[in-house]
Amino acid sequence: MDTICITCRIINKEVIPPGGIIYKNNFVILHHCLDINIGGYFILSPVRHVEGLEQLEPEELSQIANLSKAIIEVLIKQKDIDRVYILSLGEETSHFHFHLFPRYKWMLDFPSEDICTNDKIDGGKLFSFIRNKYKVDKQELFDNRLLEILNSVREWADL
Ligand SMILES: [Zn+2]
Repeated sequence: MDTICITCRIINKEVIPPGGIIYKNNFVILHHCLDINIGGYFILSPVRHVEGLEQLEPEELSQIANLSKAIIEVLIKQKDIDRVYILSLGEETSHFHFHLFPRYKWMLDFPSEDICTNDKIDGGKLFSFIRNKYKVDKQELFDNRLLEILNSVREWADL
């Protein structure tokens, strides 16, 4: 039998993500990334353990879409966030999820070989580089700014 996945462990309250579960209902769960020290980097998943978008029910799909929009609208209003990457990879954690990854202005200050391909920002490369660089065993930092972002997400989505 497979060991229970990290997302299901968060849902079961066996693992507490930084700042706690931001939002959860019967369909979706939103929490901050567990081990990358980048404020506003969220993970959005269905509560049900499925391993691909194609397995989502209509209600799960629509809640994930609406909550993504709420989060991104708040993040993109931050002066130092230029865009928000949305990724689903599923290589480390099989439980389907979206990474909502804010691309901060300061991330472009790294040497171009780390974040660019052919002089263009390479989103996949930048995402991977930043994740490796800011990986922590357990995210401790939970600054006031992040709390503000979270409150704005909650207000926007009327959660
Ligand atoms: Zn799971």
